[in-house]
Amino acid sequence: MKYSLGIDLGTTFSVVSIIDENGAPKVLKNKEGNTLTPSVIYFSGEEIIVGDDAKEMQAMGDNNIACFFKRNMGDENFVLEFQNKYYNAEDLSVIVLKKLKKDAEDFLKAEVKDAVITVPAYFNNIQRQSTINAGKRAEFNVLSILNEPTAAAMAYGMKASGENKNILVYDLGGGTFDVTLVHIGEELIKVLSTDGDHELGGKDWDDRIAMYIGEKFFEKFGVNPMDDIEYYNDILVKCENVKKHLSKRESTDISIYYCDLSEKFTITKEIFLGLTGDLLQRTKSLSDDVIKSAGLTWEDIDGVLPVGGSTRMPMVLDFIKEVSKKEPIVGINVDEAVSIGAAIKASMENATNTPTLRREEKALFTLGGYKKTEDVMSHSLGMIALNSTGERYINSIIIEKNKKIPCTEKRPYEIRTGRNRNNVLEVYMLQGESEEISDCTILGKYVFYDIEYVGRKPSIIDIEYSYNKNGVVDVFATQRETAKKLPLKIEKLSEDFIFEEELNEKEEAVHKNIVIAIDLSGSMRGKPLEEAIEASKTFVDSIDEGSFSLALIGFADKVKTLINLTEDREEIFRAIDGLKKADVGTSTMSEPFSEAYNILKDAYGDCFVVVLTDGQWYGKKDIMAEVNKCKEYEIEIAAIGFGNAKKDFLDKIATCEENSIFTEVSNLKQSFSRIAKVISRSDGSIKIFQKSNSIKLR
Ligand code: AMP
Repeated sequence: MKYSLGIDLGTTFSVVSIIDENGAPKVLKNKEGNTLTPSVIYFSGEEIIVGDDAKEMQAMGDNNIACFFKRNMGDENFVLEFQNKYYNAEDLSVIVLKKLKKDAEDFLKAEVKDAVITVPAYFNNIQRQSTINAGKRAEFNVLSILNEPTAAAMAYGMKASGENKNILVYDLGGGTFDVTLVHIGEELIKVLSTDGDHELGGKDWDDRIAMYIGEKFFEKFGVNPMDDIEYYNDILVKCENVKKHLSKRESTDISIYYCDLSEKFTITKEIFLGLTGDLLQRTKSLSDDVIKSAGLTWEDIDGVLPVGGSTRMPMVLDFIKEVSKKEPIVGINVDEAVSIGAAIKASMENATNTPTLRREEKALFTLGGYKKTEDVMSHSLGMIALNSTGERYINSIIIEKNKKIPCTEKRPYEIRTGRNRNNVLEVYMLQGESEEISDCTILGKYVFYDIEYVGRKPSIIDIEYSYNKNGVVDVFATQRETAKKLPLKIEKLSEDFIFEEELNEKEEAVHKNIVIAIDLSGSMRGKPLEEAIEASKTFVDSIDEGSFSLALIGFADKVKTLINLTEDREEIFRAIDGLKKADVGTSTMSEPFSEAYNILKDAYGDCFVVVLTDGQWYGKKDIMAEVNKCKEYEIEIAAIGFGNAKKDFLDKIATCEENSIFTEVSNLKQSFSRIAKVISRSDGSIKIFQKSNSIKLR
């Protein structure tokens, strides 16, 4: 038979289960003959040892130990060094998973590939991805990632009779706390809401005892053994044992030997409760929130299901009874429930994913009590956007937390595309509830590229944000005009990343290419040309935003390019002065647009032509055809005229009314600087941040 594993990859212990031939859950034993494998790794000289032996080495005070690393899953700054090699939490999880796989295969005497791995419901995208990666790296085919409380509810739901019940799964493990409200129906286990704290777990109870003892020791001897890294682990292991003893007795003793000093401490249940009462209160306020966010009260809760090793502490069970006013649900093994739920899920996944399964085999997986599940995500998915007043960047939520997964939200974005440049759309994805970006987890900068140029009108990019069945974020984008699915790259952001700075960089305008075309016919000689020269210089000075290149054309009988596109201001000013000597004849027989088109057609960025004329053009060429060719190519045209120029002609050649100016010679400077402002304002830059309230739905 092909087995699929349900793996509870725990902070302190890991457990592996299967659904056996009879459709019954079975918890597998490891090589050492135990169902719980400590998630502890010992790096000895050549060997890497996982599990009970490693835990023993830890108890003996060896420091080549990695433990509790699940808390740091996905944290880039968490790196441990053993024997000159570096390991992050994912690497360490791979080591544990490989041991679990090997032991399961030995136990089952069969190769196993498929697995469902559980994660705290509180895990964010990065932590989920990292868990999936670890599974793959341990050579598993990861069927899915399942929230631990949901898994526990599945194990419980299998036993529960058919009635409708609201159950609060209170999962206090070694390093995490998850609380999940589940509705168990006849055929469906539906998660209503979930929350948690991934920095709250049994280890905090151990730490409190260790701190207490350290302080007492210090009071007596003036040294604190907890400050000594050599003794730290050893004392923590002892404190964990104290905690466990207190689950059975009223008080227990702990002896500490340090620097030839020794002392015995007695810890009573009362002292222990005094040291840790606030930790219980933290679980209470998270439980309150979860019930409230499902629109229910404690009275609507039919029972609390304790899960996770730390719920063995009597103080936890007393506390549950006190707040729920009901006896906690018993009869389910708190250590094994999660992995059993995962095994159920794995069988169900396999049954649905394997259409070739024979009917009897399928039936096996849907034996009585197996219920479908509906899960939710514990974090809202958002993106950085400007707030409604456009003053500040906030987390704009796209998918609210506690929404059923998988789920998708679609949003359209308008962006200006540019010719001959890599048009990209950048979205900064976040997870968290707060409007404050700094309170959220930044998932990364999602960059969609290869957006095609669609002309001056904005392109519409439809973005689909999803949580898939694993609670992992998927983001897809399609360019509406081209129906093209856009390729995506996800860039990680450094910790010191500052949005305002990044944004200011982005606001830098797209490069502008401007051709100034000056009519040099006879009537322009003298004062008009002098004024035109000064006005052109003013124009150059007025375009102060972003980068631009400028070309200069003189036209009369002939057309002449006095300077091709350049960014060198000195050169531009010299060319403008050179207008006086340009030899292009005396009558306006030519037009500047075909020449301007040639100059601009391969230019990178946005393109403009500014024409100055003082009269009528008599050329044989179809001027409007040349003008239209420019316009079709998205070249923006501004026309300034005076003297004998005709306003309706200027209107015809200019791209819009604002770009058509009929004026006096003495006002040329003003008119040119007005056009310069229009061009400067013409922001071709891609809008990466949409105002949160201005996303236009079409
Ligand atoms: P889990 O992550 O669910 O395996 O839970 C592990 C946590 O449960 C650790 O912090 C253990 O110290 C704690 N734990 C296990 N057994 C007991 C017990 N009998 N009393 C108190 N805490 C326990």
